[in-house]
Amino acid sequence: MEVMVLGSGIIGTASAWFLRQAGHEVTVIERQPGAAQETSFANGCQISVSHAEPWANPAAPMKVLKWLGREDAPLLFRLRPEWLQWRWGLQFLRECTAARTDHNIRQIVALCEYSRQTLQAVRAETGIEYDHLTRGILHFYTEQRDFDESLRAAKLMRDLGCPRQSIDADEVVRIEPALAASRDRIVGGDYTATDESGDVYKFTTGLADRAEQAGVAFRFNTTVTRLLTEGAGASARITGVEVIDEHGVHRTLRADAYVMAMGSFSEQLMKPLGIDLMIYPGKGYSATYKVTNPDAAPTVSLTDDGYKLVVSRLGDRLRVAGTCELNGYTRELNTTRCEAITRRTRELFPDACDYDNPAYWTGLRPLTPSNVPYVGKSRYGNLFLNTGHGTLGWTMGCGSGRAIAEIVSGRQPEVDFAFTGMERPRGAAFPGKQVASA
Ligand SMILES: Cc1cc2nc3c(=O)[nH]c(=O)nc-3n(C[C@H](O)[C@H](O)[C@H](O)COP(=O)(O)OP(=O)(O)OC[C@H]3O[C@@H](n4cnc5c(N)ncnc54)[C@H](O)[C@@H]3O)c2cc1C
Repeated sequence: MEVMVLGSGIIGTASAWFLRQAGHEVTVIERQPGAAQETSFANGCQISVSHAEPWANPAAPMKVLKWLGREDAPLLFRLRPEWLQWRWGLQFLRECTAARTDHNIRQIVALCEYSRQTLQAVRAETGIEYDHLTRGILHFYTEQRDFDESLRAAKLMRDLGCPRQSIDADEVVRIEPALAASRDRIVGGDYTATDESGDVYKFTTGLADRAEQAGVAFRFNTTVTRLLTEGAGASARITGVEVIDEHGVHRTLRADAYVMAMGSFSEQLMKPLGIDLMIYPGKGYSATYKVTNPDAAPTVSLTDDGYKLVVSRLGDRLRVAGTCELNGYTRELNTTRCEAITRRTRELFPDACDYDNPAYWTGLRPLTPSNVPYVGKSRYGNLFLNTGHGTLGWTMGCGSGRAIAEIVSGRQPEVDFAFTGMERPRGAAFPGKQVASA
């Protein structure tokens, strides 16, 4: 079958790889000159099964209200006269009940775990080099109340089979000695040895190269403007994709099946088809520093709870990422936010890096209110969805790609996840997630 994948971030590229492995003829359409140039370019680089709790949880409404208008808030709603943002916000509130949170965590853990195993298998098979480290993720706390609350989250993760162990401050510094200078401020932590880190850009571009060698056609500098449809009800289908190609020429490209993997921009192209994806861009920041003193820079991937920042060592670079702003599609760099990241990183690891020449970046997380992505079928028989991976797209990327290739091929993926528009296998604990009118 000929399959067209729309978008070449981690999600589209992994989809293309597994579709090709399943024997399909695959073409990838991407507006940028290469793979992984947008949100999959410079993220926090954590493969983080242990942090499956979505932002929508019972404590979130009060926190979000408290943070409204605060420039340094970890999650900042900038209220706009925009229908999608308000609907998204209301849906976010609905996802904050204990029952919905429990449901969502289980979905996310299942997909993340499957994805990490898939990533490990791809790594072994392809030998892609992406500065990965398998030294776990260490989450440290500087407020006693936050640490106390984390004990419950860590236990829940253990109950779901993820070995997130709560530890005291001395153990935190034993696991990551680069935190020694901050020992007095740390009140405790938790550590998940099975988590990993690695450069999402290097991995995705490496996988795109391998996919191309295996026969996948990449059409870069090609922008999708519209999906064409025919039929109604059960016989509704996609007949082609209108694009502006690399020479600026308008064309229609056709395939037997289509996979939507355009991250934050998926919603705009699905809306005219009557597919109501609840995806809103969550703008985040990262800073990348050159490591000048390797022994003073961490090698265990870290989560700094107080500042909601994640830190990953990528060879001779240190990547620090975080913050989320719901403010439309702008990717403008806010100097105050950038400088706050550098100030905090310098405070934690004073002699580790060249802090005078940071590379700052912003990206748009494709956020669903629940942080559970859309992976599965739409109401168009030959249109499949793999989008809305929010805060964990790198962690879920390989697993989502493998799963969508199974679904396009007419098979049920091995993982017990509420795939969009599909029944769960018998004995599964949760009903399938439905997309409004999809
Ligand atoms: C600051 C920050 C830190 C993060 N840290 C982590 C982390 O530590 N761990 C983790 O698991 N996740 C993390 N994430 C989330 C993760 O980066 C995203 O979930 C993931 O990159 C989304 O991948 P994607 O392929 O869906 O989207 P993208 O990478 O954005 O890919 C979508 C592609 O579609 C293309 N496209 C869009 N519109 C069109 C069009 N009209 N025509 C053609 N092509 C189009 C785009 O150019 C793009 O290449 C972080 C995100 C941010 C912003």
